[in-house]
Amino acid sequence: MDYIQNFLSGRIWLKEQTPFPLSEINNYIQKGFITPHKGIQKNHSSISIKNPSYQCRRCGCKELTAFNCARCKGPCLYCRHCIRMGRVSSCSELITWTGPVIISNTEHIFNWSGNLTSLQEKASKELLNSVYLNQSHLLHAVCGAGKTELLFQSVLVLLERGQRVCVATPRTDVVLELAPRFQQVFPQTIIHALYGGSPEHANYAQLIIATTHQLYRFEAAFDVVFVDEADAFPYTIDKSLQFAVYKAKKTDAVVHTITATPSDELLQQAVNISVISERFHGYPLPVPRFVGLYNYKKHMHKGKLSPKLERWTQQCLKKIQPFLIFFPTIDLMERALPLFQQLHENIQAVHAEDSERKEKVLNLREMKVCGLLTTTILERGITIPNVQVAVVGADETIFTSSALIQIGGRVGRSIDFPDGDLVFFHHGISFAMDKAKATIIRHNDTRGRK
Ligand SMILES: [Zn+2]
Ligand SMILES: [Zn+2]
Repeated sequence: MDYIQNFLSGRIWLKEQTPFPLSEINNYIQKGFITPHKGIQKNHSSISIKNPSYQCRRCGCKELTAFNCARCKGPCLYCRHCIRMGRVSSCSELITWTGPVIISNTEHIFNWSGNLTSLQEKASKELLNSVYLNQSHLLHAVCGAGKTELLFQSVLVLLERGQRVCVATPRTDVVLELAPRFQQVFPQTIIHALYGGSPEHANYAQLIIATTHQLYRFEAAFDVVFVDEADAFPYTIDKSLQFAVYKAKKTDAVVHTITATPSDELLQQAVNISVISERFHGYPLPVPRFVGLYNYKKHMHKGKLSPKLERWTQQCLKKIQPFLIFFPTIDLMERALPLFQQLHENIQAVHAEDSERKEKVLNLREMKVCGLLTTTILERGITIPNVQVAVVGADETIFTSSALIQIGGRVGRSIDFPDGDLVFFHHGISFAMDKAKATIIRHNDTRGRK
């Protein structure tokens, strides 16, 4: 039984997709250890009894597609929203574990000897206090404040209580950055890192670091969920991801959130809030420079880089400083790439669907590439020592004030290079640019006054 129990505890899985023989699954269903559920269910909150609406049991999506199903030989509904995880349809079953509960490990090795600044220490204690009280907590910590360390103490306490913990984030890059850090701090703890395309795990993990997408596949699993970068795209606009987080936790479990740029909604939801306005190394946040780059699109369409942008890039190349240049669209970025490669062949571009994204970021960190052109996909979660940052078209609507603050947060993160250039190239100053700059200055002022 062990391996099925290990695999299925806290998960919700397509019956036809488990790695186990169907006969064993059916056997457990008979015993009541596994419960099957209809993949598509009637929506209980539906107003009309005559025409009930339906929803996907796994992702909660209510916009379902009707089709003539070969399997059930009739009209059938399926969910397009979570189809990448295997098709959930009216005639498919999802299974959950309802057998004996796993007794979690309460002994964990805690291998962390870093020091917290006094502000970090205070916030870490406040969070721990909220964990004891089982109240939701918002950690509002500026980019580079060292927010991951603030979780260690709370996670340790939870693990030692034998509880199951999830650190979720909308961003794959953040999962990739967090997972090895947690594994280092908790070397004996089974930790799963889950993201689209991650290896399948058959065993039971007490600590899970996952994208919010992956939480579609959990149900009533976690005693506590921390949502890191809780204001990041697409979490804030995709309600099904928020549904996923709430479905993945146990009924009484609390959701804590962590971000450098909380939305008004997050500020309202939190029972307790800790604010850290200072970076862990004590240096101020880099303040953006606004530089007019008029008609840059026209220039690029004509196969030229605007002189100011070219000069900026040449400076980085000359000083051998790694750089990131953010673009509002993939199209513009790809148009610009060959122009940058004329300056240096070793400049590359990266976007969300890029299969080599992980390697490219690593190559920049190791100075194997000089610079990366990127979309907002790299706005969070990455740390590159001595990186210089430019935003092209900072006035475009995709660059919200939060996005600009996060992008600026890439600069000066390491103690060896606590400063760096942050330039917003624009075709006219936007409200978001002003707001981002004002917020950064306000954090720096708060820090100065303490
Ligand atoms: Zn679905
Ligand atoms: Zn069907």
